[in-house]
Amino acid sequence: MADKFDVIVIGAGPGGYVAAIRAAQLGLKTACVEKWIGKEEKKVVHGGTCLNVGCIPSKALLEASHKFVEAKHDFDDMGIQAGDVTMDVKKMMARKDKIVKNLTGGISGLFKANGVTAIDGTGKVTGAKQVEVTDLDGKATTYEADNIVIAAGSVPVEIPPTPMTEGLIVDSTGALEFEDVPKRLGVIGAGVIGLELGSVWSRLGSDVTVLEAMDSFLPMVDGAIAKETQKLLKKQGLDIQLGARVTGSEVKGKEVVVKYTDAKGEQELTFDRLIVCVGRKPYTKGVVADGVSVELDERGFIHVDDQCRTSVPSVFAIGDCVRGPMLAHKASEEGIMVADIIAGHKAEMNYDAIPSVIYTFPEVAWVGLTEEDAKAKGIEVKTGSFPFAASGRAMANNATEGQAKIIADAETDRVLGMHIVGQHAGEMIAQGVIALEFGSSAEDLALTCYAHPTMSEAVHEAALAVEGHAIHMA
Ligand code: FAD
Repeated sequence: MADKFDVIVIGAGPGGYVAAIRAAQLGLKTACVEKWIGKEEKKVVHGGTCLNVGCIPSKALLEASHKFVEAKHDFDDMGIQAGDVTMDVKKMMARKDKIVKNLTGGISGLFKANGVTAIDGTGKVTGAKQVEVTDLDGKATTYEADNIVIAAGSVPVEIPPTPMTEGLIVDSTGALEFEDVPKRLGVIGAGVIGLELGSVWSRLGSDVTVLEAMDSFLPMVDGAIAKETQKLLKKQGLDIQLGARVTGSEVKGKEVVVKYTDAKGEQELTFDRLIVCVGRKPYTKGVVADGVSVELDERGFIHVDDQCRTSVPSVFAIGDCVRGPMLAHKASEEGIMVADIIAGHKAEMNYDAIPSVIYTFPEVAWVGLTEEDAKAKGIEVKTGSFPFAASGRAMANNATEGQAKIIADAETDRVLGMHIVGQHAGEMIAQGVIALEFGSSAEDLALTCYAHPTMSEAVHEAALAVEGHAIHMA
């Protein structure tokens, strides 16, 4: 038997690495087991999906492709002569890889600084207080721990009609690695990841068609904001087809023919590349040995209570491998909560105040209820909206598209939701999160002094608009 720990965390994504660092900071002897092999390093790297093939690389490409579009189409209006703007895809990818390398290396540094023992290999819970780690050479070692945290994450869902085909039919990870710009690009799934990746390649010149099986667009976003987002993305050239259910595909040389059905019947489209973004599933197969009574549901999610405790009291599970939104910050907050609980502190999470962001241009960000959700729950609401077209800063920024909307309880004025489409919506939404977290009223926001000129003034005006008192709107 090897070392004994207070806490062993399995997985070093944003759930696991944050849990491990917090636990060590609280004085617990902590180890974190990880098996992800870095693309460049050819050794175990930390950071999980988020840092390696998720949040960070996708944002690096979104930023680069947005700057490309700005330089190509918007600079002239500002008097900037940029000449013939071109994109060097290889260089854009190299920059993305460098950012990933810096960040993943940074986590290893944080582990050292905080005294977290990094163990390379594949972890498996073999008892209520036992983790077996198989290292890269296949050697198994058993460690004891008073507490175990499973943070095994998730992987992309594959669907039978479109099996992965090297270089032609890829998942989100493959779409972050294209070496050139496909002329005709198909994206299956108009969710957050599909819209972000579709935007990257559309900005760089691909003709992008997004096939979405559902009839509604972004149903988790307030109706008015979703409608405006759809209109804006369409204007940018994304052909988003709703109610399009993919039934099959055929690879013909260097092309992919996709078959789907929609309201008009059977359809077919030919693409040079296809990205399948139909969701993610928990990556929990084999992480708990037979005989250990940690319960998993039929989809592979580890069953946990509100404090992320599994059916075995000494075993916790967090992040994408448990219920709730598959978001990095949700995983990290659960990691902090669990570390605090293990250290004997009182801790809980407010699952009603988790923000979501789609990093298209403009960004879409939301927290809390939509107007439709509230009505379906029988809550009477009042709302206030403010268009960025009426914002001085938005005009100066050349970013007048979109609006901010606040949904408040009609009786108590308490903020129930904030939904924004607009430049920097992902930054602005923190105001909605804080409002929800602190139980603010719309009036609290309306009576707050906002810096001028800022995009956030739209939130202020939306709060004023809840009572029909927006200043800069007729
Ligand atoms: P993961 O990040 O998946 O980490 C799990 C880790 O556990 C992995 O490193 C894995 O190797 C390791 N592991 C699994 N099993 C074992 C085992 N048995 N032994 C050892 N190690 C193991 N979220 C956002 O909030 N914002 C975004 O902008 C965003 N963009 C995204 C873009 C893309 C393209 C994708 C794919 C995802 C994006 N996400 C985003 C989602 C985000 O990446 C995940 O929600 C987040 O990474 C989940 O964190 P986690 O720690 O639960 O799991």
